[in-house]
Order: sequence, then structure tokens, then C-alpha cells
Amino acid sequence: MKLQRNYKFWFCTGSQDLYGDECLRNVAEHSRIIVDKLNASGALPFEVVLKPTLITNELIRKTFNEANIDEDCAGVIVWCHTFSPAKSWILGLQEYRKPLLHLHTQFNEEIPYDTIDMDFMNENQSAHGDREWGHMVTRMGIERKVVVGHWTSAAVQDKIASWMRTAIGIVESSHVRVMRVADNMRNVAVTEGDKVEAQLKFGWEVDAYPVNEIAESVAAVSESDTNALVDEYYDKYEILLEGRDADEFKKHVAVQAQIEIGFERFLEEKNYQAIVTHFGDLGALKQLPGLAIQRLMEKGYGFGAEGDWKVAAMVRIMKLMSAGMKDAKGTSMLEDYTYNLVPGKEGILQAHMLEICPTIAEGPISIKCQPLSMGDREDPARLVFTSKEGPGIAASLIDLGNRFRLIINSVDCKKVEKPMPKLPVATAFWTPKPDFATGAEAWILAGGAHHTAFSYDITAEQMGDWAAAMGIEAVFIDEKTNIRDFKKDLMLGNVVFGK
Ligand code: MN
Repeated sequence: MKLQRNYKFWFCTGSQDLYGDECLRNVAEHSRIIVDKLNASGALPFEVVLKPTLITNELIRKTFNEANIDEDCAGVIVWCHTFSPAKSWILGLQEYRKPLLHLHTQFNEEIPYDTIDMDFMNENQSAHGDREWGHMVTRMGIERKVVVGHWTSAAVQDKIASWMRTAIGIVESSHVRVMRVADNMRNVAVTEGDKVEAQLKFGWEVDAYPVNEIAESVAAVSESDTNALVDEYYDKYEILLEGRDADEFKKHVAVQAQIEIGFERFLEEKNYQAIVTHFGDLGALKQLPGLAIQRLMEKGYGFGAEGDWKVAAMVRIMKLMSAGMKDAKGTSMLEDYTYNLVPGKEGILQAHMLEICPTIAEGPISIKCQPLSMGDREDPARLVFTSKEGPGIAASLIDLGNRFRLIINSVDCKKVEKPMPKLPVATAFWTPKPDFATGAEAWILAGGAHHTAFSYDITAEQMGDWAAAMGIEAVFIDEKTNIRDFKKDLMLGNVVFGK
């Protein structure tokens, strides 16, 4: 499936005609140089497109409205080279609906001490003009990112790159469609939520289909297509028979291959990019989709287990945000399963029944076929592996009844001390920041779920900015968290968003 569209970001420079034509020519030339150098830097995941210098109310309004309707435009970057009276921007900003970055930079890096005069000052006064512009955006209550520094600096370019990925998450959110082929697990609270409110806030379409409709699509997959995919599995993964008969094992694997193809065809035909299943509602499916779902997640589909459509949508969004990243380490649904409480070695073993995305794997990936302790179907085939080390974030979107809250926990992923030869599922293991006890206490106080959308490649800042753009509450659990202040964050959320 295609994860990355050919998005572009518009570069709009603010100015005015008070300083004469020569100044405006320089403004346009400087902007052109900045855009060319940004594009040539190799640091940005998407192209920046230079737009004519914005000097009148009419042009500003027209440009922002063109950005709204241009499907390839994922956001606008604004910089005020000179002073640009901000009342000129009101109508354009009022009508603008896409992500906004305020690049607070200056063409020259150093003050030209020997030659500086008043003409130079008037031409190069973003220190002045960008404050006027920022004032208006703040007064209007518009969510935007502000990046400060010289445009050639690697740190500034990295911040622009990071924001571009956040912007993708924002513009793509309203294109996420989640297919539910099962309802939420009976009696479970945290996987529930208001689907109408989710569409209002995030743009997600969350629709139910009878499980047997997708099961029919699976049954319609030909034996030759299925066998070709089984051959691909056998080439790519280690086969761990563990005493099972080789032919019988292969038949179990073929069931998952048929599910993978049948599910993908059904999702594509009906234009869904995320899916939920439920082990207790499988209709005519012979196995709980395990290996099949793992492969679909690897291709970029969002997934949530036991009907968890919020996690399915979040996994999809985080996969879109990280698509095409160099050295990406992976994004998956995960579940807090069991603890290691040995002092100094505390951590949470992350797993699920089956459905962990192999993008987070490190080392060999094997296929195993084992009974499930739940449900009433044949033993499902699944991919088994352990995951990479390093920092990541676990995100949990919860519905508090009157609002959504996104809980973002920075975590430190580690290897488990010893192999777990009897555990027939993929795993990750992490210690939450700032430490196990504080992290878990804060998570529970915030109401965080046991299912999470996890990524090594997306930052807490990006997800916080995404939540802000969606107009929802976000709380961070990271190296700076202490419980007393965290409770104040939650109280503040109640005041701002309502209890
Ligand atoms: Mn679960």
C-alpha cells in the first residue's frame, strides 16, 4: 500500500511595499535562495515550494485559500522578511485550515557590523516583523509551530523536517478510515469511545462490517495465490515446527496467507487503511488473524485488537508520519502484558496474543504455530521476534466521556535479560520514563489504556503537536515527570477541557 503521497509545503514570505521595489526584489531573491537551499539540504522529507511575496490582504487571502484546496499542499511555512502589518493577514488566516509553521529566521546570519545602515535594518527586520505576525496568530488562537534560528543550521532544518511529519499526521488524519469487523470486546471500557466525536475531532471514519463479509473475501482467494504467498513466507522467515508435522504446519500457515490476501483485497476495495478484529468474533475465519495482521501492519495498515479502533487509527497515523524515514525502526500496536519488578531491572513486557508489527523486530523473525488460550479456532500461525533497543514513545488515546486525552509516554526499549523459549509471541520490553514506578503511576492516574500505539520513530513533541492541532488534551510522561506536577497537568486539563 502506498504510504507516502507527494506532499509539498508552501513557503510564504511576508512583507509590504513601504520600503520600495528594490527591497521587495531582495526579499523575493532571499526567499528563493532559502527555499532552494532547504530543498538541496537533503534534511527535509518533502519539497518546499516558493510562493510570491505576500504584501496585500487580497494576495494573502487568495494564497491561503489556494493552499486549502491544493490536495498536494500539506502546510504553509510563513516568514516575515520585513515588517508585514498583521491586520493584512486576518482574513487569510481565518480561512486557512492546514498546518502552519512560523519559521522565525533571518537571511543573514551575522550582523554586518562594518556596513550596516538604516536601509539594511529596514530590509532585514524579521526580529520585528515576525513578532507582529506572531502576535496576530496568537490573538486569533491559531495552533502553529514556531521554529527559531538561522535557516542553514542543521538543528533548524531538523525541526522543520520533524514538523513536516507532524503536518502529514494532521492532514492525513481526516483520510483515515477504520474497518471494524468485530465490535469491542464485551465489558471492556478503555477500548470504547465516541465514534461521532472521533470523526468531529480527528476526521476518522469508523465503520462496521459483518465479519463474514470479509471471511467471504478470504474464502475467494485462490489456492495458487495463497501458495505463492506461503512460498514467500517460507523464503523470508524461519520456520519453527517445534515438533509439529511439516505439512500440517504449512496448512496452518496457508490459512494466514489466505487471510492476508483476502483482508487486503477487501480493505482496498472498500478504501480502508486500518482494521480491528476480535478473537471472540471470527465468523467463518478458521484462525484468529495473526501472521496476516502482522504483515498488513508492516505494509502500513493500522490495527487494533479486540475492536480497539482508536489504537488502529493511531497506529495508522504514526505509520504515515514516519513513512519513508531513513533508518526507521518501526511502529506497532503493543500491549502492556507483564512486569519485571526486580529492583534495578524493572520493565514492562510488551506483547499481544499475536498481532505485533514486524517493523519493530530485531534479529530473526520466525513463524510459529501454537494454540491460543482464548477463542475456539484452530492454532494460528504468527511471526515471533524480539524488538529493537533505544528510545520510543507509547501513545494512548482515551475517551473520558466528555473529551479525548492523548497520553504520551517516553520509554526506553531494552533487550530482556534471557530468552523466553516458551513464549510463542513477538515481544518488546521497556522501562517507562522517568522510571518504572513513576511512569506507571502517572499512566494509571491519567487513565491510560493497556493497548498502545508505539513508535521508535515519532517523538513525543510530534504527537503533542498533533494532539494540539486536533484540539484535544495531551499529557506527557517523560524524564521530567514527577507525580505532584503531573497531577497539576491533569487538573489543568480538567479546567481547560472540562471535567
Ligand atoms: Mn488486547
